[in-house]
Amino acid sequence: MNKFLKKTKIIATLGPASSSKEVMLDMVKAGVDVFRINFSHADYDLVRINVNTIREINQEFGYTVSILGDLQGPKLRVGVVKEGSYLNPGDILTFTNEKIEGDSTKVYMTYQKFPQDVKVGERILIDDGKLVLEVIETNEIDTVKAKTIQGGPLSSKKGVNLPNTNVSLPALTEKDVEDANFILDLELDWIALSFVRHAQDIIDLKEIIKNHPTNKQKTPIIAKIEKPEGVKNIEQILMECDAIMVARGDLGVEVPMEEVPAIQKTLVEKARFHSKPVIIATQMMETMINSLTPTRAEVNDVANSVLDGADAVMLSGETSVGRYPVEVVENMTKIVKNIENTDFYQNKNAPIEKDINCIDERFLTNRICLAAVRIAKSTNVEAIVTLTYSGYTAFQISAHRPNSHIIVFSANKRVITMLNLLWGVRAYFYDMNKSTDETIVQVNTLAHHYGFVEGGDYVINLNATPANADGKTNTLRLTTI
Ligand code: PGA
Ligand code: MN
Repeated sequence: MNKFLKKTKIIATLGPASSSKEVMLDMVKAGVDVFRINFSHADYDLVRINVNTIREINQEFGYTVSILGDLQGPKLRVGVVKEGSYLNPGDILTFTNEKIEGDSTKVYMTYQKFPQDVKVGERILIDDGKLVLEVIETNEIDTVKAKTIQGGPLSSKKGVNLPNTNVSLPALTEKDVEDANFILDLELDWIALSFVRHAQDIIDLKEIIKNHPTNKQKTPIIAKIEKPEGVKNIEQILMECDAIMVARGDLGVEVPMEEVPAIQKTLVEKARFHSKPVIIATQMMETMINSLTPTRAEVNDVANSVLDGADAVMLSGETSVGRYPVEVVENMTKIVKNIENTDFYQNKNAPIEKDINCIDERFLTNRICLAAVRIAKSTNVEAIVTLTYSGYTAFQISAHRPNSHIIVFSANKRVITMLNLLWGVRAYFYDMNKSTDETIVQVNTLAHHYGFVEGGDYVINLNATPANADGKTNTLRLTTI
């Protein structure tokens, strides 16, 4: 029954553990709303197959699962190293621009300007911060020497973070530009950019989207916040992007880990204020990569992220390489639903007061959406039903976090799957070319047919009057089923 669907969405990363149609379908049935394809590891042929499979599942079973293409961004890595390489505290490791096979003394680094950009005393973190080194010397040409502070095994192609270094790499590497064009060719619903530092990074990606032949429907951008600069510049970034991700894996290495919880809460609040969805990601159910039981701390983390106001919670290794890709989604859904059904969740995220002084072209729509959520609350409205072509009203209503269902009808097929990432939003196809009166009767009948409302329930209908495809929402009507 659609009436009992969760509001907070689940994103699952695809990988070898989740690449068959059976597993994907079971994951969707268990509560996956969005599949993420991580282009750090993607093989184009496999991506094409997976995208087709998801679209088949949508077609055959009536789902609107969304697909997110995630660009690697300027992620640094060490090269290949000999099995068994190990660093002890005090050991000196040399980073070189030469493509050698590394060992416990020397390693290749995938960042040519590293010797010029890095300064003595700065930290080098390898493998999500498991290894910590400090720069003691650079020849400013091709070699950097660093002393091991925290040791451990050194293995091939591990990620490197330089939290204090002003990295001069472009936000979009050559690989990212190629991957972005591939994502646009496939018309995926969302595109994410890793290691966003400034608003300009988003503007650069928008330029690629604009110049692509499929640009009529602008693919929305998720800014992954996982660098201190991204946190600092969040206001400007939020003006340019369409959603953000609190990418706690890299973030927890780039800033002191103890700062991540407060950053998470601040980012959620700011994103919601801008009516942009926010995803909380990484290590949410990490234990379930190998075990059927999550830790109590993980259960709490998922529930608390929902309470913070996340639009979506994300699974990475749990579903891409883990042993229990379906069970982890089932557990996550249970945790999400349970916390959503509490009174304190339903009273926690009040509608957002803003826009009073911002009289722009969207002013009327924004005020109507806020009014809808307020009336919904005071009148016990079961569903807010809106029509949209661009998806704009869905973003607005969703950000206010109403307790009612948010049912969206659109004649724009691409928007329907895109909106599946948004908190509480359920979108369906409707070819809107009728009068407002007829439209309202029809969409309310559909809302009933889909099982969101019953006879006698109150519904708020939002429309653009006079009715036409691209008019802006300016009308609110309270109706009963
Ligand atoms: P990643 O991003 O999985 O692409 O690294 C998420 C994170 O860093 O938390
Ligand atoms: Mn990351």
